Amino acid sequence: MTRFVLATRNAHKVLELREILGDRLGPHELVGLDALPGGGGPEPVEDGATFAENALIKARAAAAHGLPAIADDSGISAVALGGQPGIHSARYAQLAAEVEGRVIPRDDGENLRLLLRRLEGATDRRASFWCAAALVDPAAPEVEREHVELAEWPGAVLEQPAGQGGFGYDPVFRPEGSAVSSAELSREEKNRLSHRAQAFARLVEELRRRYG
Ligand code: IMP
Repeated sequence: MTRFVLATRNAHKVLELREILGDRLGPHELVGLDALPGGGGPEPVEDGATFAENALIKARAAAAHGLPAIADDSGISAVALGGQPGIHSARYAQLAAEVEGRVIPRDDGENLRLLLRRLEGATDRRASFWCAAALVDPAAPEVEREHVELAEWPGAVLEQPAGQGGFGYDPVFRPEGSAVSSAELSREEKNRLSHRAQAFARLVEELRRRYG
C-alpha cells in the first residue's frame, strides 16, 4: 500500500478526486496536505506558463515532505480569446480588476461574467476545459521522478449561465455532444467525462504500473 499526498488544501477537491478515482486506486491511499506535519508548509508560487508546469510546481512542493505527491492544475481556454483565461482561470476577474487598480476577492461568479462579457458578440464560442495531473515521487529514479498527464474536454461557451451543479465556469460550458451545460450534468456524468476525470484516469494507469 502506498500513501499519496494530494497537493491541495481544498477538502472538496480531495473528495471529488476520491469520487473520480473510486476503487481504481486499489490498495493505495490518498490524503490531503492537512495530513502532513505542519499542514504541508507554505503554498508554492504557481508561476508556470502552462497547466503542466503549475501542476508540477504544486506536486514538487508537496513531495518535498517525502511522500509521492499528486497535484492538478486546470482551467478553461476560449479559442476567440487566444486561449484565455487558461492558467489564469481561477483569478480571471481579480487580475482584470488589478489592471484597473481595483482589488476584489476571488469569485467564481465574477470570473464567469467576465468570460461572457469578453465573448459578447463572438461567433466562435469554442472553448475547452484543460486539466494537468502530475505525479512527483521523491523516491523514484531521476528519469521517472516526474510524470504529467494533460487532458482536454472540448465544448463551447453558452450565451447565458444554465444549471446549479458543479462549480466555477460549469454553468457557461456546454461540452461537445451535450445539449446541456456541465452544471446540468449529474455528478456521475461529469466525473466520467470531464478534463479532470480523463487526466486522472490516465494518471491512475501510471500509478498502477508503478505501484501495483
Ligand atoms: P485550479 O485547478 O484549482 O487552479 O482551478 C482553476 C480554475 O479553473 C477554477 O477556479 C475554476 O474556475 C476553473 N475550473 C477548473 N475545472 C473546472 C470545472 O470542472 N468546472 C468549472 N470550472 C473549472
